Amino acid sequence: MKFSSEPKIDLLTNAVDSTELAVREWTGIVKRTPQSSLLLAASVVEQHAEQLADNFYEVMRADPRSAVFLDADTVEGRLRKSMTQWLQSVFANPLVSDINVSALVATQLRIGEVHARIQLPNYLMIRGFRTITQNVYEILSAQTSDLNLRWTTFGFMRDILDFAMELMGGGFQRFSDRSVRSDEAFRLFSLGDNMALERERQRTSLAEWGQRILFLLHRDSNVAQLPRLTTSEFGLWFNHKALSMFEGAQEIDHISELIESIDSNILPLLGARGASNEKSLLTQLESNLNSLKFLISNTFERYIEMQGGRDSLTRLLNRKYIGSVLGREIKISKTKSSRFALLLLDIDHFKNINDKYGHQIGDMVLQQTAALLLNTVRNGDFVFRYGGEEFLILLVEVTPEICLRVAETLRTRFEETLFMLGEGRVGKVTVSIGVAIHDGHPDYQRLIGRADVAMFLAKESGRNRVYFDQVMKP
Ligand code: GH3
Ligand code: MG
Ligand code: MG
Repeated sequence: MKFSSEPKIDLLTNAVDSTELAVREWTGIVKRTPQSSLLLAASVVEQHAEQLADNFYEVMRADPRSAVFLDADTVEGRLRKSMTQWLQSVFANPLVSDINVSALVATQLRIGEVHARIQLPNYLMIRGFRTITQNVYEILSAQTSDLNLRWTTFGFMRDILDFAMELMGGGFQRFSDRSVRSDEAFRLFSLGDNMALERERQRTSLAEWGQRILFLLHRDSNVAQLPRLTTSEFGLWFNHKALSMFEGAQEIDHISELIESIDSNILPLLGARGASNEKSLLTQLESNLNSLKFLISNTFERYIEMQGGRDSLTRLLNRKYIGSVLGREIKISKTKSSRFALLLLDIDHFKNINDKYGHQIGDMVLQQTAALLLNTVRNGDFVFRYGGEEFLILLVEVTPEICLRVAETLRTRFEETLFMLGEGRVGKVTVSIGVAIHDGHPDYQRLIGRADVAMFLAKESGRNRVYFDQVMKP
């Protein structure tokens, strides 16, 4: 199978070696537009850029959820100007300045990344762009009665705006994917190995804080400023570590609310001179602290369980989850028209590695294998340790061509990678891969069976091979 004559395929985004294609597309839009329209577009922007920028932010800011991203000062001080410049850059006058399409494309991707970094919701930006498009049409209608000119100019401007937005979407996605991956890495890293110990430490520091409050109250009933939970050891740990470690856990919001309620409702009243209802406030405090302890334990518990879902040697997903993941994917593929595929990968002559270098080195090779697999597939895909030296990879939303390509890429990456074999030694490892694409059958075992037969045939035909199951073979 050869793919060299085709455009470079980015495995992760399956087809967008984006910049080159994007430059071609952008250039195409400009080229097919008559010069009179290019000039008119440039002059519209020259005259109205500021107004367009103002309207752009105005509609975005009308949405209350934009408040965090677009406060009045930022818009006035910075964004308005950069939006004006942005409009001038994408609709520059071709007679006055050279248009560097590559730079324009790179800029749009970067803007998308920035939006992702600040978590600006996509729909807000789309709304802003929609307004610009409408405004542009109104301006053009007022400026020229030549319907043909008006229409081609509008078409050009709309295409550029749409395409810029599309590129920003690509940049947005690229950044999100990357950050999800590193978030996960950070989570694992920051968790360390000893979760049980960490859990006890946090429970203790919560209890110590409670005792300190009681002590302060006992010593002096008029404590102007009782130390707040948010700034305690526990609070700092929660805000800086736990929020990212346990992101998405259902208890997190509840814990935040309890901390907030203790700090804002209970403590100020308790600290007031001779609070008459001190007893009931203390009962409230105690009950809130107990709830916190309970919630923290629960969160840890569930995380430890989830960790149990990983294979302890490779940290890949345990095979016991294959059923539920496959079941869910089959359901999804019914509602969407997409397909998923299984790759069953088996290391060739793995027994030789064990025999020659020992079991421990064999284990190291399995770990390096897992890393290579994770680094090659996309974020949304699943990698399971299926058996001793067998791995099952589920590729979501693929075509037969794409999954074959991924399998080939994996096979060659193994072939080209030097595996560390301890004591400075390196060696080669090859794999045989069976590929089967879901054909709509509701029983996932059938699909695993097909991948298994395909893998067997890859071995039969000489190893270091990819064999595609006969159904829907590309
Ligand atoms: P083939 O090319 O036909 O796949 O040959 P192979 O040697 O890879 O296959 P075989 O199934 O004969 O051997 C697999 C070996 O993998 C046997 C077993 O001892 C070893 N193995 C299974 N699990 C582990 C493990 O967790 N660590 C180590 N080091 N070895 C393992
Ligand atoms: Mg095997
Ligand atoms: Mg093997």
